[in-house]
Parts: sequence; structure tokens; C-alpha cells
Amino acid sequence: MERDVARLAEGKAHELARRDVLTGLPNRRGFMERTGRMLEGLPVSGALVALLLIDVDWFKSINDVYGHEAGDHVQAAMGRCIARHENSSCAVCRLGGEEFAMMVTGAEVGNIEQFAQTLRGTLADLSHGDIIGNRMVTVSIGVTASASRADFGTLYRLADEALYDAKRGGRDQIAIRLGEWAGARRNDRPLFA
Ligand code: GH3
Ligand code: MG
Ligand code: MG
Repeated sequence: MERDVARLAEGKAHELARRDVLTGLPNRRGFMERTGRMLEGLPVSGALVALLLIDVDWFKSINDVYGHEAGDHVQAAMGRCIARHENSSCAVCRLGGEEFAMMVTGAEVGNIEQFAQTLRGTLADLSHGDIIGNRMVTVSIGVTASASRADFGTLYRLADEALYDAKRGGRDQIAIRLGEWAGARRNDRPLFA
């Protein structure tokens, strides 16, 4: 009985160490572990994987104008929206600060540009109400996709470069940097037509 209680407490502590308190999303540690398992489970060739880095635009000014608590509110709302995408082929997290990430594997990767655009629109359309004077909050998304099993470091570097492109391009937009894409055809059609 005592051992069961200890095991339960240990499981709870393990889970808590992998969650972000503010948004309830997996944190960086939880994400790294889950995406590590996802990548390991992919075939070496013919695997489709995408990484999205989502960064809130001008977030510092939301804190500056409306206060840190209002900023927390916006983060939590974004977190709830991102959490809805979590499933067996999509890992999500709050990486830290006002940055979130998603890793997608499988068929959805062929459609990742549309996926990222829809996500960007959905996040921008969130209503934060009076907390921030009905101000709109947008995000920039850096996307990378690979048609072979890529290592996390490479995916992260490409997605981060893409995020920088999106910021430099004016924010409130997505940018894509493709990874290994040779032979990436399904039904003889390129994935990104
Ligand atoms: P950019 O469009 O270039 O991303 O501009 P930005 O203002 O979003 O980026 P910057 O990195 O300058 O500022 C991020 C801010 O996010 C700074 C920090 O105070 C705030 N922040 C990070 N984590 C939290 C949090 O948990 N709660 C709140 N309220 N603010 C946070
Ligand atoms: Mg940032
Ligand atoms: Mg930002």
C-alpha cells in the first residue's frame, strides 16, 4: 500500500515536471521527450515530419501597456487553443516565454502550409476581450518540413530560421524552410505543389 502511494506520487511528480504551469501544456522537457519518441518511431526514409515554432508578436508591449497579468491571460488563451491540436501525430508545447512549438508527423505534413496558415488565423482571431482593450494579438510561425527522418536539432534550426524570416517579413505570417525533401512525392505529385 505504501509502495503504491509512493509510486503514484512519483508518477505525479514526473508528470508535473513536464508541464507548464501557466498554460497546462507540456513544457520543453516534456516536448523533447515526446518528440524524441516520435522521431525514433519514424521510418528512416519516407517519413514525413514538420516542426512549427510559434512566437507571439510584440508581446512585450502587451505586458508594458496592459500589465503582466494581462500578458499571462493572453498566453493561457493561446495555450488552450494550441492544446486542442495535440493528438497521436501532433506534439505541442510551450517552449518558454511567449513561444510555443508543434511537431507533426504523417499525412498532415503534406498539407503543412495550410495547417500553419489556419493555425495562425485561429490564434489571431482569439478574442481577449477587455483585458487588452480588444486589441488583436498576432503570431509569427516558422515552419520546417522534412521527408526523411530528421534529427531534432536540424529541424529546430530550420524552423527558427523560418521564424526569423516571418518576423523580418512583417510578423503575423508564416514562413517555411524545407529540410530534406528529395523524392518527397506521394501519388507522383509533389507535396508542396
Ligand atoms: P517579437 O514580435 O519580435 O517576438 O516581439 P516580442 O515583444 O514578442 O519579443 P521579446 O522577446 O522582445 O519579448 C518577449 C516578452 O515576453 C518579454 C517577456 O517579458 C514576456 N514574457 C515571457 N514569458 C512571459 C509570461 O509568462 N508572462 C508574461 N506576461 N510575459 C512573458
Ligand atoms: Mg520570443
Ligand atoms: Mg514574440
